[in-house]
Amino acid sequence: MLLILIVVVFAIIGYVVSKRLKGKFRKYSQIALKANLSGKEIAELMLADHGISNVQVNCVEGKLTDHYNPQNRTVNLSPDVYYGRNAAATAVSAHECGHAVQHAKAYSWLQLRSAMVPLQNASGRILNIVLIASLFGGFLIGLPYEFIGAIVVGAYGIMTLFTLVTLPVEFDASRRALAWVQERNIVTEKEYGMSKDALKWAAMTYVVAALASLATLAYYIFVFFGARD
Ligand SMILES: [Zn+2]
Repeated sequence: MLLILIVVVFAIIGYVVSKRLKGKFRKYSQIALKANLSGKEIAELMLADHGISNVQVNCVEGKLTDHYNPQNRTVNLSPDVYYGRNAAATAVSAHECGHAVQHAKAYSWLQLRSAMVPLQNASGRILNIVLIASLFGGFLIGLPYEFIGAIVVGAYGIMTLFTLVTLPVEFDASRRALAWVQERNIVTEKEYGMSKDALKWAAMTYVVAALASLATLAYYIFVFFGARD
């Protein structure tokens, strides 16, 4: 029952934060940027300013699908951001380029996060197998309770660690983005406030995900290794 409570509480918090984030983006997207630069132009300018010439800026489908791909060194922007000429598009574009700058400068938290990706994927698969097996009985029958607990807590621990390592990476990308747009005089003081607020709410979604993961991990530790009498 406690697990259901944790899941429901964080689902509600997650919903509220993502609703707030979308609202902020909608609001800040309607105000035209004084510099009249599109997200694409912002990205190209920021990359050039940091001496980065091997990163491509692409337009990808969807909403809030913006991301930096370290594998093929591409900054991928959703159409709203790629073509947008407003504070929200500026903030997101510069944030994704912040990841490209982290990559170029071998920022240690990003390197650690990238190194953890295969481990994180494997943990997700292991948890799925345990979940399916526990639903249908299967090979788990006969295995010591503590052994299953160690697998679940270990795998979930790795996934939680991943969400925590993501936090400094995200906060640092936003910090780099905001420092650059201010330095470059891309935004007015008002637009800077909007950019900062938009990025703050984007970062909140990562904080909520990390907290939800931590709470679930604590639950599993309690269930498998908590005091039983
Ligand atoms: Zn990011």
